[in-house]
Amino acid sequence: MSRPVSYNITEKKLVDDISIAEMPEGHQGEGFFATQLNSVIGLARKNSIWPLPFATSCCGIEFMATMAPTYDLGRFGSERLAFSPRQCDLLMVMGTISKKMGPVVKQVYLQMAEPRWVMAVGACASSGGVFDTYSVLQGIDQVVPVDVYVPGCPPRPEAIIDGILNIQKLVGKESLRRRNSEQYKALLESYGIQ
Ligand code: SF4
Repeated sequence: MSRPVSYNITEKKLVDDISIAEMPEGHQGEGFFATQLNSVIGLARKNSIWPLPFATSCCGIEFMATMAPTYDLGRFGSERLAFSPRQCDLLMVMGTISKKMGPVVKQVYLQMAEPRWVMAVGACASSGGVFDTYSVLQGIDQVVPVDVYVPGCPPRPEAIIDGILNIQKLVGKESLRRRNSEQYKALLESYGIQ
């Protein structure tokens, strides 16, 4: 007599298990929904951020924990890491950056296509941290514009996730015209970027 086959199938409640993106502001009626192009593009961008992890020391290990199953950055649509600047839109600098590394960080930033955002993760990337020495860059905002700073030495994975959520808020609300504005051009020029 053959043994009965049992399948490990459990019923899934899709709505409970999958987080659904917030609907942008707009007008709806029977069979239609109208909103701004800005909002739709912001919604798509903020839920599909591709980070480029530029990890040089201990903060990078916290980032590894952030990617692992317990914290799982993929829940926020950011699990697609890449080390190819052309495909990424979020530069995450994690760790101590020496002055020699400064131009390398800037070169990676320049190789990323617009729109791009930058997150300084941890005290070292934000301000040099405990390394107030001749050889350490006292914050990556000396070489590239930073959008979000994450405090801590090291920041816990929750703090890194909070930084991602803040980046998402910025990305979702950013006007499509911001990158062409005079203020943005002046900001880049102050860093010697055309
Ligand atoms: S902020 Fe602290 S944990 Fe992070 S790289 Fe610097 S020394 Fe290491």
